[in-house]
Amino acid sequence: MPYSVQRGSARRQFLQTLLSTAVAGVATQAGIELVVPGRLQAQTNLSPEAALQELLAGNQRFAANQLTSIDHDLTVLKEKTVDKQEPFAAVLSCADSRVPAELVFDQTIGHIFVTRVAGNVVTPEIIASLEYGVAVLGVRTLLVLGHSGCGAVKAAMKADSAPGQISALYPRLRPAVVQSAGSLDRAIEANAQIQAELLRTSSTVIRDAVKGGTLKVEAGVYNLASGKITMS
Ligand SMILES: [Zn+2]
Repeated sequence: MPYSVQRGSARRQFLQTLLSTAVAGVATQAGIELVVPGRLQAQTNLSPEAALQELLAGNQRFAANQLTSIDHDLTVLKEKTVDKQEPFAAVLSCADSRVPAELVFDQTIGHIFVTRVAGNVVTPEIIASLEYGVAVLGVRTLLVLGHSGCGAVKAAMKADSAPGQISALYPRLRPAVVQSAGSLDRAIEANAQIQAELLRTSSTVIRDAVKGGTLKVEAGVYNLASGKITMS
């Protein structure tokens, strides 16, 4: 009967639409799962410049309140990174609570290798950690990130007596203080540049990777007010 045939046909079409929508949904889901490890795999193939641009693009998303990293499925990411990590970039930033590195670069589990210490200064332990990131994990860019209003730099400028071992940071910050002519902003920018240069020169692993064209070491400053990073 035409009517029932038509109905049957319409129903089949409806079911097919449902099915293809469901399949598309599954494909999208699967796509997310496949894309994430795929990107992790591909990250080591990024050029140093592309890796840097990826970081900065993430910061632009962060500053514009358009985070994409929060859409990643953390359960899947955790599962896929149990046995390996392939971060595309390394960051040396301050321990300051207002500069959470993954967040300000809109990155998630397994994407960036982060070392943090007050004043983002280079110490033997920091070098060792970053060398691991470069030599073993194959990061393609290394960014030293200072930030506005850095308390460590401020303290080093005043060189006041401080409790415990806080003043142990001062000698490492001293060269930037000398270049600052009394300006905190200049000291912060100079410090990021000085620490980046220290990494380029004092680590044979980093120096060789830079020479070999597989790594870029740069410095930048994060602005607490705008959320934006300015490369220096
Ligand atoms: Zn700081």
